[in-house]
Amino acid sequence: MDSRTGFPVVGMVGGGQLARMTHQAAIALGQSLHVLAVSPADPAALVAPSVTIGHHTDLAALRDFAARCDVLTFDHEHVPTEHLRTLVAEGVTVHPGPDALVHAQDKLVMRTRLAALGVPVPEFAAVSDVADAVKFGDEHGWPCVLKACRGGYDGRGVWMLADADAARQRVPALLEAGTPLLVERRVAMRRELAALVARSPWGQGASWPLVETVQDNGICVEVLAPAPDLPPEVAEAAQEMALRVAAELGVVGVLAVELFDTPTGFLVNELAMRPHNSGHWTIEGARTSQFEQHLRAVLDYPLGATDALAPAVVMANVLGGSPTLGADERLHHLFARFRDAHVHYYGKQERPGRKIGHVTMLGAAMADVRSRARLAAHWLSHGEWLDGYDIH
Ligand code: ADP
Repeated sequence: MDSRTGFPVVGMVGGGQLARMTHQAAIALGQSLHVLAVSPADPAALVAPSVTIGHHTDLAALRDFAARCDVLTFDHEHVPTEHLRTLVAEGVTVHPGPDALVHAQDKLVMRTRLAALGVPVPEFAAVSDVADAVKFGDEHGWPCVLKACRGGYDGRGVWMLADADAARQRVPALLEAGTPLLVERRVAMRRELAALVARSPWGQGASWPLVETVQDNGICVEVLAPAPDLPPEVAEAAQEMALRVAAELGVVGVLAVELFDTPTGFLVNELAMRPHNSGHWTIEGARTSQFEQHLRAVLDYPLGATDALAPAVVMANVLGGSPTLGADERLHHLFARFRDAHVHYYGKQERPGRKIGHVTMLGAAMADVRSRARLAAHWLSHGEWLDGYDIH
């Protein structure tokens, strides 16, 4: 491929913050990502010199883009599986490939496959008629959880069904709109965890310490690394399970396995085959970041060491708020108070609830690191200190 440097050209489909941070890691490896973005204002399109504007559902756009790259990878899972199969049949190298990626695209395919592999998942059933949901709830207990098999994120596409009447109200309209559905048992979870691993085409695997992800309204707001109060044998079992899933599904790149921590062990909720919000802490908090590791895997380089660089690392997302202080002034005051805060902004406009950046703190004790990360992120979002600190 046309590369001035002798290195292969990585094409990133999708121009969001994951692509932006992958580009940042790419620079150090002598890379410069080619980005297929929907808009020139996408986070990665603002920073990468080689940007193609096109839609990831447009096969012709994908084909043209692929012709200028040695390997394609993704910052989201929204490319239609059949387009990827077509590209692969035409000789394009796609990592992760469609046979793996479909498990991150379709929750029913994923649940069915993981159950067949003996990986613990919540009990579930496909819903092709409202009667399927009612039968499941009657047999497994109400409330239960209805999910769109494809296209959901940040809790969109997830509905709690209180009882059979709720199912009768909700399911028919969704099915008529063409939304494929599944229903599953509502899990009594203590908290949510994530196992982050990477796998190369050669078959090498690597796993970072297990983390706890703290959600608010279906959106991840904090990640604690390592997950506090987790018995080492449970953490190890989850990491091994994630590596086994990566190998069985033929994943290339980063795989995030979202887990429910229940009193009887962990259950897998979701898979993502790309850098993931639960791994942003690795940029400063681990020997090799998830973004560099994803590139190493996609390029079939040996994977990097994944050990943490501090006993406690916390990443807190900065969500858009409606502060009166300007963004620049907030950042100024943040740095004045916390000299050790690592701040990442994604070049996005602030909108309430939108992930516009994140802050990472490292330290010796989880409680202290967590409270500082939370103060910092809340300040950047809202321009107010939760503990009443005075900026004057
Ligand atoms: P999305 O793909 O939109 O992120 P998820 O399947 O991850 O959807 O679900 C979003 C959130 O809903 C989860 O983080 C969890 O808090 C809650 N949730 C999902 N499935 C269940 C379940 N079976 N039982 C209880 N809570 C659930």
